Amino acid sequence: MSIEIRNVNKTFNSFKALDNINLKINTGELVALLGPSGSGKTTLLRIIAGLEYSDEGSIIFDGEDNTEKSTQDRKVGFVFQHYALFKHMTVFENIAFGLKVRPSKLRPSKEAINEKVNELLSLVKMKELARRYPAQLSGGQRQRIALARALAVEPRVLLLDEPFGALDAKVRKDLRRWLRKLHDEHPITSVFVTHDQEEALDVADKIVILNQGKIEQIGSPEEVYDNPINPFVYNFLGNVNLFHGRVHNGKVEIGTLRLDVPKNVGTHNKNIISYIRPHDIEISLEAVGEDFIEAEVIFIRAVGPIVNLELKRSDSGGYVEAEISREVYRTLSLQEKQKVYFRPRDFKVFIPEDYSI
Ligand code: ATP
Repeated sequence: MSIEIRNVNKTFNSFKALDNINLKINTGELVALLGPSGSGKTTLLRIIAGLEYSDEGSIIFDGEDNTEKSTQDRKVGFVFQHYALFKHMTVFENIAFGLKVRPSKLRPSKEAINEKVNELLSLVKMKELARRYPAQLSGGQRQRIALARALAVEPRVLLLDEPFGALDAKVRKDLRRWLRKLHDEHPITSVFVTHDQEEALDVADKIVILNQGKIEQIGSPEEVYDNPINPFVYNFLGNVNLFHGRVHNGKVEIGTLRLDVPKNVGTHNKNIISYIRPHDIEISLEAVGEDFIEAEVIFIRAVGPIVNLELKRSDSGGYVEAEISREVYRTLSLQEKQKVYFRPRDFKVFIPEDYSI
């Protein structure tokens, strides 16, 4: 089922939590609402669910206006960060609950319920744990049961609010891969809230980046990561170095660097800020023409396959973060206090509205 959010606004007292949100979610898409704390993600999810009502705007499901409909009539399934499973019920009973409490006319037969629950237990790979109680499960297993329980009533839409937020990093990673696979096999339109960029980039078909109640950018993980529309998105999606510079004589000048002017920037004299990801910094032991900036290696962290470097520019004294492979690190045999030269392999330029940043 498709979801369309049209001109949605929401104010709490005088605080604008959502500011004219417009969003289309296609049938079967897995969409991440990503943004910092307080950006309005949960409020938007709750408005889609019918748990909260917008001041203005409409929620359209498959072309039909659902703005005034109750949560029950919208037929949405939920999974929350701390999804309270019924403690006194087994895993099997928890999953069966939503079907058992249906009015008798709509309730499936006992056999049909058993079949459905067994099917879901296989889907979430929990068949052998059917007789356990929630207290006897790990956090990750509980969230899988919560998902099975949400799916049991065959919702038209699945809404997940930080579903893996309370779990440790390793389990979180496993579960998000598992969710991606589950969604590929059973594509139900799903919207999940997260503040974790890596999680959104890893799992979602489409990412909606929210900031202070507004949508900053909508796109596939590749689109938003490779072509962030503004400095906020660039900063939010990963570590980044900021370099102040200017456009002069048809080149971007940053210290001694002279780079070709990117397409989004005019060639007239302008102050700019250039954004460079740590993994896009190339290190060399020798300067080649004007193409490098001299720096000193201040700190090396060589744990795991990626080596993190902190450099101090010789010209401005500014600090630069770089990430290089272990192989490059060995080839260069870098040491702290060593003089090196760096340049960006790739960079983005934004014209600051306020140059003081
Ligand atoms: P987090 O990641 O911290 O959960 P979020 O992006 O989900 O944040 P929301 O929970 O949607 O943010 O909240 C958006 C803003 O609206 C916040 O500033 C919050 O304090 C405010 N807000 C949310 N619900 C209410 C409410 N019922 N009454 C008053 N203010 C609210």
